[in-house]
Amino acid sequence: MPELPEMEIAARRLAAALPGETIESALAPGINALKTFDPPLHALEGRTFTGVQRRGKLLWLELDGDLVVLLHLMSAGRIQLQPTRAGLRDKTSRLLLRLPEDRELRVREFGTKQRAWVKVLRADELGGDESLASLGPEAWPDPPPLRALLDAPRPLHSLLRDQQVITGIGRTWVDEILNVARLSPFKRGDDLSDDEAEALRAAMVSELGRVLDVYEERVDIPLPEKFPKPTRVHAHQGDPCPQCGTILEAVFYEDYVMTYCPTDQTDGKVLKDRRLSRLLK
Ligand SMILES: [Zn+2]
Repeated sequence: MPELPEMEIAARRLAAALPGETIESALAPGINALKTFDPPLHALEGRTFTGVQRRGKLLWLELDGDLVVLLHLMSAGRIQLQPTRAGLRDKTSRLLLRLPEDRELRVREFGTKQRAWVKVLRADELGGDESLASLGPEAWPDPPPLRALLDAPRPLHSLLRDQQVITGIGRTWVDEILNVARLSPFKRGDDLSDDEAEALRAAMVSELGRVLDVYEERVDIPLPEKFPKPTRVHAHQGDPCPQCGTILEAVFYEDYVMTYCPTDQTDGKVLKDRRLSRLLK
């Protein structure tokens, strides 16, 4: 989190709310958040929003004078349009764009790591920025056929989260997509049959679309700190599989969990829990 559906709903809501608004002042309190120095941050002052766009998990704010603010929230960032200004001691603040009447577009980051980033760019620099230029095709709404795209000797769980292969999917929605497609997270991309690749593509479109439909109903400005989580598989180990009722199993990694259905996805096999096997060494 946030992945494609969270960024897409943020882009939609901000695209409806921001155009016409003028930035009064701009601050980047996070030490590492602002990755550019030319144009300077204060070049944003007095600029008016003209649009908001998304690509993969990235978002950019378009301003008059051909400036853009490109941002990546990474795993723990949030963007919100608040009716009040953040306190100066708020340690989660990474970017504060102050608007009239004390309102504020705020990028915050939770947790211990500072990884979310912001770039102020000229509009003609945007396409060449490596963070955008390196991205694979969008996972939603119309990804390309996956048989050729995923033709690599790597497990699906890692391939699908590789933004240079296909962009928009992370640790949460990959579990839902693989469950609907009835594919093992450890199946290799180059082992996919044509039918499996097509099932995976269909699951990707339907699952990301399902989540976005939920957000369309439930997410609004100021944009939530905690999104509703319409998950049915990810982190639901111990619950019944939404497809077949088998109890879902999980593999625990250092900072995330991979959840799957043994019946639908791994030929009945319960995969080794790496946390447990490390303890037993
Ligand atoms: Zn199942």
